[in-house]
Amino acid sequence: MSVYDCHVHTAFSFDGKAKLSEHCERAVALGLSGFAVTEHNDYAAAGFSHGDHVRASIAEVNRLKEQYEKRVKIFCGVEVADIFLGSYDNTPFYEMKDIDILLGSVHTSALIRKYFPESPVYTLVGNGRNVTKDFGRRLMEQYLLEVLKTAEKAEVDVIAHLTYPLRYLNGDGALGLDISEFSPILDQIFSAIIKRDLSLEVNTSGYFKGWQEFMPPEALLARYYALGGRNITMGSDAHQAEALAVGIPEAKQMLKSIGFTHGSFYQNRKRQSYLL
Ligand SMILES: [Zn+2]
Ligand SMILES: [Zn+2]
Repeated sequence: MSVYDCHVHTAFSFDGKAKLSEHCERAVALGLSGFAVTEHNDYAAAGFSHGDHVRASIAEVNRLKEQYEKRVKIFCGVEVADIFLGSYDNTPFYEMKDIDILLGSVHTSALIRKYFPESPVYTLVGNGRNVTKDFGRRLMEQYLLEVLKTAEKAEVDVIAHLTYPLRYLNGDGALGLDISEFSPILDQIFSAIIKRDLSLEVNTSGYFKGWQEFMPPEALLARYYALGGRNITMGSDAHQAEALAVGIPEAKQMLKSIGFTHGSFYQNRKRQSYLL
């Protein structure tokens, strides 16, 4: 049975806590087929020195890839975020020949930058007490418009953690936003993913953080399936070794119950399928 975790951070990401070797040992202990190292590269984060940490991570992946060759496959990737909010110039600062997978994410929005300029991520509104439901709704709408741009135009393979703000707004903040309010734009995002033959990620990080919900949740994955979407990757978004692959077995069961038969991983930017 194949298990691929396509979204993992190491200590080369500013918020990552594990060395790659720790993830490797954990992956072998769990019997994973493979995992992808996808360090952060947030274009809109002020002063975030993207470049050196990604290159250093790529070098480490290349080094350990061979060492672990017979035990677990290690793929090299980048989580490229906030592409159209920052100074994205399409020129990668790493050698693309080294890259297996590019995740496309959105971590911030113009609204966040206006009201919480010191925080490029959602952590400030994380406890939900800082924001009203109406603010959360506007934030979600703006966020999804950025995701749509990413799905329509960005040079990426996968759209990651589609409902990311909900982990904070509903998970931590209990605002109770109803995602079905955003159905029209979600449908546009799904259509763009399908049209461009990208993959949609099932992000399972909520399972490690005690919020038992996938991003996106089952109802949205069923909608994606109904519209013809079949390409799915799964990612734990682990920032420490104990989080590796957490929630992925549950995600596989859920996907199978919807009708999905295959999962995907990427090698040299090419999608590969495996039986769920
Ligand atoms: Zn992310
Ligand atoms: Zn991530």
